[in-house]
Amino acid sequence: MTEIVNCSEHGPNQACMICCHLAKENGKEFAHVLVEPDDDDMETAMCVDCEAHLLSSDGWTEELNEFAKWKIYCRQCFEQTLKNHYLVAEGYMK
Ligand SMILES: [Zn+2]
Ligand SMILES: [Zn+2]
Repeated sequence: MTEIVNCSEHGPNQACMICCHLAKENGKEFAHVLVEPDDDDMETAMCVDCEAHLLSSDGWTEELNEFAKWKIYCRQCFEQTLKNHYLVAEGYMK
């Protein structure tokens, strides 16, 4: 099931997750984590610092969550925000 977020700007929309660094800053390198359509996980974008954290720890740990301070964005806000950053990696992550 895809999560729906009700964006004040764009209305009901697919929920996506973004790390606080991409939310706050511009011009960062980031990884785009895709999900299968029938997957429960949210599509996610994380800066390379968060990705390094993820890769060096054992998956999606509490520590990573604290570091990333995930924000829920609607699909359109997500895509707009990512235009301010540089995509360096894209793929499915499990
Ligand atoms: Zn980050
Ligand atoms: Zn929105």
